[in-house]
Amino acid sequence: MNTCIDPAQHLLGQGPLVSRERLWQSLMDLARLGATTKGGVCRLALTDLDRQARDLFVHWCEQAGCKVTVDAIGNIFARRPGRDPALPPVMTGSHIDTQPTGGKFDGCYGVMAGLEVIRTLNDLDLSTEAPLEVVVWTNEEGSRFAPCMMGSGVFAGKFGLQETLDKVDGQGLSVGAELQRIGYAGSRVPTGHAVGAYFEAHIEQGPVLEDQRTTIGVVQGCLGQKWFDLVLTGIEAHAGPTPMHLRKDALVGAAQVVTAVNRVAHAHQPHACGTVGCLDLHPGSRNVIPGQVKMTIDLRHLHPDHLAAMVAEVREAIETSAAEHGLSFELTPTADFPPLYFAEQCVDAVRQGARQLGLKHMDIVSGAGHDAIFLAGLGPTGMIFVPCEGGISHNEIENAAPQDLADGCDVLLRALFQAANQGAR
Ligand SMILES: [Zn+2]
Repeated sequence: MNTCIDPAQHLLGQGPLVSRERLWQSLMDLARLGATTKGGVCRLALTDLDRQARDLFVHWCEQAGCKVTVDAIGNIFARRPGRDPALPPVMTGSHIDTQPTGGKFDGCYGVMAGLEVIRTLNDLDLSTEAPLEVVVWTNEEGSRFAPCMMGSGVFAGKFGLQETLDKVDGQGLSVGAELQRIGYAGSRVPTGHAVGAYFEAHIEQGPVLEDQRTTIGVVQGCLGQKWFDLVLTGIEAHAGPTPMHLRKDALVGAAQVVTAVNRVAHAHQPHACGTVGCLDLHPGSRNVIPGQVKMTIDLRHLHPDHLAAMVAEVREAIETSAAEHGLSFELTPTADFPPLYFAEQCVDAVRQGARQLGLKHMDIVSGAGHDAIFLAGLGPTGMIFVPCEGGISHNEIENAAPQDLADGCDVLLRALFQAANQGAR
């Protein structure tokens, strides 16, 4: 094995090194687990399908010579040793759980790209000074269990282990019990794991790169997010005998809130988003005035002051609407992520990698949450975006071009290799 860094650096300057076909095949093999008829994937966190996908990842990593460990929240770490075992690992990864109508690439790309980097380094017989680790983070999507980014959140000490293990899904099944059931309640303590650097490759999940005909998004940071559950309560009553002026119609109040969320997000451009994604009304009968509405509110912005102002304006709209329609309300925060800017040396490493490979690249901001947000609190962190077709994600038709995925993986290889040899520290 070559212990001199320079020739290796030289080799990395040569051009593309990862195998496009192998990366694509791994993604397609993984996508078979939970494949939907519309070409997507339904693989919710901690289900039997998630276990099968985890088992496949572990198998591939062991084949690639990695040592695999699992922590108490089910995060999987596949380590490729470095020349100096005392150095903190340079890490990469993402998630392999999906939305109920998810695609083949969201999250899975980051994990398979990390594995492809390990396989490529093995093929080239290249070692690194620091160990490399590819990680699968538990329940990034937050679809079955809230909050999202659960595994990386516990790892980063943002969520307590026991309170997270106690979270339940819609059926009342807990994270802890489901981890035990699928065999991924590991023995490792999730916190206190040093991070030399962390890079995450991901499909953009938006339309900007495709629109700009650009292969690599050099991610500057992530929008802050504030999520809420809102319950508006009025009185259900007969749709005929109850005069309009005596109604306490929760849905009419909710409609005003939905409009306010949209208006507030438009008013705080650029980099503002506001969405009501779930709305349940009770009792849901054609001749009954809705007595209760439960809805979710998702607000995002790149600047903390704007985000705080958006929350205040939406809250005011809820109070106004409730007063106007005689409703009571309960607004409960369910997630809170401040805006984040990635470490300059990691952002530069991604940009340099793209430049070395002659790939068209641009600075970009992530509107979605990613595990990288939590990792950024533990060590220098960066992200690489590649285009996805039509900017569509969290959808069964989610798609990406094999060449773009391979290009992003080649950038990841360079970023990881550089950080693990020189230290992006
Ligand atoms: Zn994702």
